[in-house]
Amino acid sequence: MDSCIFCKIIAGEIPSSKVYEDDKVLAFLDISQTTPGHTLVVPKEHVRNVLEMSEKTALELSSRLPKLARAVKSATNAKGLNILNNNEEVAGQSVFHAHIHLIPRYDSNDELSITFTEHEPDFDALAKLAQKIANEVTA
Ligand code: AMP
Ligand code: ZN
Repeated sequence: MDSCIFCKIIAGEIPSSKVYEDDKVLAFLDISQTTPGHTLVVPKEHVRNVLEMSEKTALELSSRLPKLARAVKSATNAKGLNILNNNEEVAGQSVFHAHIHLIPRYDSNDELSITFTEHEPDFDALAKLAQKIANEVTA
């Protein structure tokens, strides 16, 4: 896709701070560096996000995550690492070429904040919702 910034990085048309490359996947430093070492892992195939991704591409992308996560953590001496993926604008996606964020964590008060709001569990509602989602899972 001509206008896609990550396709241009993959093609070498615009520069990036590359940390890993093979025939299917590229990893490079995120320009925003939310925390030092913030890295993006992208499939070389242009696909909008996980919602449009084939199982094959998902396997190729996810199979590289453990070694890249270990490399980022050990190179930065981080204490831990979040792996994040945003799908569509409402979820914070701003570049519409699928990518996984590897974000090293140095302490729980650093520049990344993730909060899961907790609600009292309604087990009947949970069962109904789980069944509704289960019915949508395709082979
Ligand atoms: P998202 O909001 O999940 O779509 O993440 C897109 C990420 O791409 C943001 O964290 C940006 O900082 C990052 N980004 C955008 N342009 C570039 C670029 N040219 N090189 C590296 N990272 C980029
Ligand atoms: Zn692209």
